[in-house]
Order: sequence, then structure tokens, then C-alpha cells
Amino acid sequence: MILLPVDPLRPDPEALRRAAEVLRGGGLVAFPTETVYGLGAHALDPAAVERIYTAKGRPSYNPLIVHVADAGAARALASAWPDEAERLAGAFWPGPLTLVLPKHDSIPLSVTAGLPSVALRVPAHPVAHALLALAGIPVAAPSANRSTGVSPTTARHVARSLGERVDVIVDGGPCPVGIESTVLSLAGPVPTLLRPGTISVDDLRPVIGDVALPSSATEETAARPSPGMLDRHYAPRATVRILPHAERTRTLADAAQRVNEGMRVGALLLEDAGDRRIAPVVRMPDDPAAYAARLYAALHELDDAGCDVILIDPPPDAPAWAGVRDRLRRAATA
Ligand code: AMP
Ligand code: MG
Repeated sequence: MILLPVDPLRPDPEALRRAAEVLRGGGLVAFPTETVYGLGAHALDPAAVERIYTAKGRPSYNPLIVHVADAGAARALASAWPDEAERLAGAFWPGPLTLVLPKHDSIPLSVTAGLPSVALRVPAHPVAHALLALAGIPVAAPSANRSTGVSPTTARHVARSLGERVDVIVDGGPCPVGIESTVLSLAGPVPTLLRPGTISVDDLRPVIGDVALPSSATEETAARPSPGMLDRHYAPRATVRILPHAERTRTLADAAQRVNEGMRVGALLLEDAGDRRIAPVVRMPDDPAAYAARLYAALHELDDAGCDVILIDPPPDAPAWAGVRDRLRRAATA
């Protein structure tokens, strides 16, 4: 595996040219995007796509997001481009929004897990953008970690999870957004949110009108919105528990008692733990964007500290927190 450090804002084109050549030749390149590190492969080369599934241990029913340098390249990979796609691309690309559209014939079915639709994104990170422009091909890229684990937001996280399974890791520093993109389907009769992210429905509605949520059920019992959103996902090794609002103090005290019995209990908190035995405690920002940017690194840190249990303060109910709430709920699904 080759590690290529680059400046996150002004990456050296020579270093990226090398990575672009590996992609064009069918190899695997991990690279920073604004959301998380992606594990990239030539999206039109079925053998290269297969290597992603093998390296990640990703089930074949979980489709991949295809990354391109601009909206024109995205449009060429869709067999239909509704007015909503044009408006959303204008408003949010490059950026952390993925659009699901009817797929063009050139996209192999392994990319879409057999679906007639394809997920497309134009990332905003200068390194991702420059790499895609140099490669000149669509790049399928799920998060650069073994399947079901916590997504990587640094090159170190990638190296630890995938090691020699990847040909090149482009190190462009920590990812500024920190959680995966918002996924919106335009392949059905109404625009439907498949995965919440930092671009919220409140951001989308002024641009395209109403957005359907996958289910009228509460978040906790929501129907499975999209393939790949099925199971335990984004989860650390430790058992994750969201602290109940009403019983916070008592739950923390009970957990501290378990520390006396030999358990290691860490926490991601918005307020004081009130008990020194809970450690390490990561004090999380109370702004949703800053929280998202910190979240996965904090989970990696507590896993590394050997925590058996991670207690987490529930974030607020507002739409801007929907992406964070979704990832925490998945992390807590044992
Ligand atoms: P990631 O795990 O970040 O690579 O994101 C991929 C996720 O995007 C999948 O797990 C699906 O939830 C969603 N996705 C990708 N392609 C499609 C598709 N064609 N239809 C619906 N959802 C999709
Ligand atoms: Mg992932």
C-alpha cells in the first residue's frame, strides 16, 4: 500500500496523477471527501468494483455511490434527468448530497446491487475533486472501512481498517463534514429521503418542494428506507447506549457502578457526566455540523481506549440533527 500525503486545500497534481492512474488501471484508491474517506474504484470496470466488495467485506446487496467531478458527468450516467435533479445539482453540488436516478446502461449492475437506479454525487473536497478530474472516469466509492464498522474520517482510520487491502491511500487530513452524505431518491414518483445527512429536508424543500420521508413511523421503528441501510451499521466495537432523557443521572450512576466491577465505560456527552469513573468522556459540540465532524473520530478514540460501553447524550430533535441522530441510532443497534 502506498500512502500519498497531500495538502487538503491545494493538493499536488503529481501525487494525485499517480493515484488517478491506479484508479484507471482498476486498482483501489482511498481518498478524502468532505463526508468521510472513500474507497474508490473505476465504476465502469466490473472487476475493479468487485475488489471494493471484497476489500470491505461488503454484502453484494448494498449498492455503491458513484462519484464524478461535475454535474455534466453525473447526468451522463443517468437515463433520466428530471428538473429536480437540475435544481438540486445547482444548489448543492459540489457537496454532501447524493441523488438516486434511473441508471444509464453503462453502469454495471454490481455497482447498483442489481437495481435499475444509480446513486450519484459530486464531492466538494478539493482532493476528491482534483482526483476525479484527473482520473476522468466515474469512481464508485463507499466508505473506506471494513463493512459495518465506524466510517473513517482520517487516513489513519483507513490504514487501520483496510491496510494492505487497498493500493493507495491519499492522506488529505480529517474530513470536514464527518458523516455520510444525504441520499435523496429521484427515481420514484416523489423525491424521497433515503438517508439523512448534514443537508436536511429543511434545506431541500425550498429547492424542490415537498420531500417524502421513507416512513411515517417514528425514527426508532422506521421501515428500512434503502438497501444497505438494513442492519447494524456505523457501529463501534463497544456497546453503544443512548442515554434516556428522564433517567440520565441514574443511568450514568449505574454505569459508574459497573466500572467498579471492571467494565470500562466511556461517553460522548453534551453535559457533564457528574462522575469521574466514566472515562474517557468526549465533550461534544452543541452545534450539529461541529458534532458531525467530531463524531466518528470520537467513536474511534473510545474504541481505542478499550471501552466496553459508550454512553451518548441524545442530540436535539430539530431537523438539522437528523443525520447525527440517524448515525447514533445505527451505532446503538447491537
Ligand atoms: P455508502 O454506504 O456511504 O457507500 O452509501 C451507499 C448507500 O447509498 C447505500 O447503502 C444505499 O443506502 C444508498 N444507495 C446507493 N445506491 C442506491 C440506489 N440505487 N437506490 C437506493 N439507495 C442507494
Ligand atoms: Mg459505509
